Amino acid sequence: MSKEILLKKIPKEILEVVKTLNQAGFKAHPVGGCVRDLILNQEPKDWDIATDALPEEIQKIFFDYRKSEPQKQSTIYENNFGTVGLKTDSLKDSLKLIEITTFRIESDYSDSRHPEKIKFAKTLEEDLARRDFTINAMALEIKNEKDKNKKENEEIKIIDIFGGLDDLKNKIIKTVGNSQDRFGEDALRMMRAVRFLSQLNDYSGGARSSSWTIEETTQKAIRDNAYLLGKISKERIRDEFSKTIMSDGAEQGVRALQNLGLMKYIIPELIEGIGVAQNKHHIYTVWEHNVLALGYAVSKKYSFEIRLASLLHDVGKPRTKNGEGANSTFYQHEYVGAKMTKKILEDLKFSKEVVEKVVHLVRYHLFYYNVGEVTEAGVRRFLARVGPENVDDLLKVREADRIGSGVPKAFPYKLRHLLFMIDKVKRDPISPKMLKINGNDLIKNLSLEPGPKVGHILNALLEIVIEDPLKNKKEILEKESKALNKLSIKELENLRKKAENAKEEFEVSAEKEIKKKHKV
Ligand code: ATP
Ligand code: MG
Repeated sequence: MSKEILLKKIPKEILEVVKTLNQAGFKAHPVGGCVRDLILNQEPKDWDIATDALPEEIQKIFFDYRKSEPQKQSTIYENNFGTVGLKTDSLKDSLKLIEITTFRIESDYSDSRHPEKIKFAKTLEEDLARRDFTINAMALEIKNEKDKNKKENEEIKIIDIFGGLDDLKNKIIKTVGNSQDRFGEDALRMMRAVRFLSQLNDYSGGARSSSWTIEETTQKAIRDNAYLLGKISKERIRDEFSKTIMSDGAEQGVRALQNLGLMKYIIPELIEGIGVAQNKHHIYTVWEHNVLALGYAVSKKYSFEIRLASLLHDVGKPRTKNGEGANSTFYQHEYVGAKMTKKILEDLKFSKEVVEKVVHLVRYHLFYYNVGEVTEAGVRRFLARVGPENVDDLLKVREADRIGSGVPKAFPYKLRHLLFMIDKVKRDPISPKMLKINGNDLIKNLSLEPGPKVGHILNALLEIVIEDPLKNKKEILEKESKALNKLSIKELENLRKKAENAKEEFEVSAEKEIKKKHKV
C-alpha cells in the first residue's frame, strides 16, 4: 500500500489528536491493532495512540476538547494502565472514544497474569517491545510540516522494529521476543494468539480463505506453557474465548485451542468427545460433530448464543453413551448436556442471560417432529415448553446439528411442516396468563384461600385448553374449575404429572423411534 493511500485512511480525528499532542511538544503514534488492520485493508475497530505525555498531561491537553460539550470534561482516566480515554464528537463508533496511552513497560509479571503495576517508558521502542505479537507491534509516525508556501503537508512512515510487516504478508502470528518468556509473563497471550488466528482467517464469499498460522516456536511455547492458563481469571478467558467464537474462523480457533493444549483450561468437557464414535446416524465422533456444528452456525453468522449452543449441544453424549457401534445410544444426553453446559458457562462467568439461553437451547435441541404423528396439542405443548421466543434459535441449533452430522437427513420438508403447524397454533393459549380466567377469579368464584390449590387448578385448566383451545371461554372454564375444585391436592398433583408426561411427547417419541428402528 502506498504511503498516500495509507495516509488517506487515517481519520481526521486521529490526525487531529496526533497534531494536538505534537504541538504541545509530545510524540504521538497510532499503534497496535489499528496499524495492523490498516495495512490489512480492514477497518480498525478502535484506535490507540501511544505518546510520551503522561496521563495528567494528556488530560490537561484534551480537557475540554469536544466542541459539542465545551463545558464538560472530554477525558476519562480511571488510573488503570496509563490509558486516557478521549471522547470525541465523531459519530463513528470506532472513533467515539480514542485511547491515548503513555509509553510504558509492564513489570511485575511474577504470576503470569496481566501486571498490576506499570512503569512508564521513555521511548516508543520500549513500548513496542512489550506488545504481544509482531503484527501488533507496529506504529505509525505522522509528520505534519508546513512547506515553503505555508501549506500543511503530512508525511507518514511505518515503524516496524520486529518484522511485523513481513509477518503480516506471510500470515504468521509470532511473539515479539522470546515466546517462552512472553507467555510466562502473561498467559492470556496464548489465547490471544488463537483469537487472532481465528479473526484473521476469514470467510470470503462463503469459502474459507487465507491461511494464517502460528509460527512454530510460538506454537511450541504455547504447548509448553498451556498450564499457566489455569492462573488467568475466568473473566479474561471468557472474553478471549468469546471473541474467538464470534470470529469467522471460530471453528479453526476451537480446533487450535485443543491442538495447542489450551482447551483443557477453558472447556475440558468438550475434550471428552474426542475419539467417541457415534451410532449409524452419524459419521463423525462427538468432538468432530460439535465442532462442525459450530462451523455451520458461524458460516450462517448466527448469534453468539446459537454458536455456543451448537458447539455444546452434544457435550453430554460421552457420559451417556451406551453400547458400541451402529446401535450405540445416548439416551438423555440433552438433560446431561444441559446440566454440563450450565456448569461450563457459569464457571466461565458468563451472564445469567447467556447461561439461561444456551442451557435452554441445549436442553431442547433434540425435539422430535414427524408429520401426522404429533398433534396440534403436541405442538402447543412444545411451544409452551420451549417458549415461542426461542423457537427460531432452536431451529437454527437443530439445523447446525443436522448439517454437522455429515449425513443430513431429509428434514426440510418436516421442518416446513412444523413451521406451518406452529403458525397454525401460534395464537392459541399456551400459558396460564392466556386463560380467560385468572387466579383472582378462582379465589372469588370458588371461595378459595390464596395458595397452591389455585395454581394447580389454573394448570389443569391450561391443560384442558391446550387440548382444545375452543374451551378457552369464561363460562366453560368456570364450570371446569368447579369440577376441579372437588379434587384433592393429591389428585390435582397427579393431573399435573400426567400433563408433564404429555409434554415429553416430542422427546419421548424420538427415543421410541430410535428404539423401534434398532429393535431394542
Ligand atoms: P482488537 O481491538 O481488534 O481486538 P487489538 O490488537 O487492538 O485487537 P487489543 O486487545 O485492543 O487488541 O490491544 C491493543 C494492543 O495492545 C494490541 O495490538 C497489542 O499491541 C497490545 N496488547 C494487548 N493486550 C496485550 C497483552 N496481553 N500483552 C501484550 N500486548 C498486548
Ligand atoms: Mg484494539
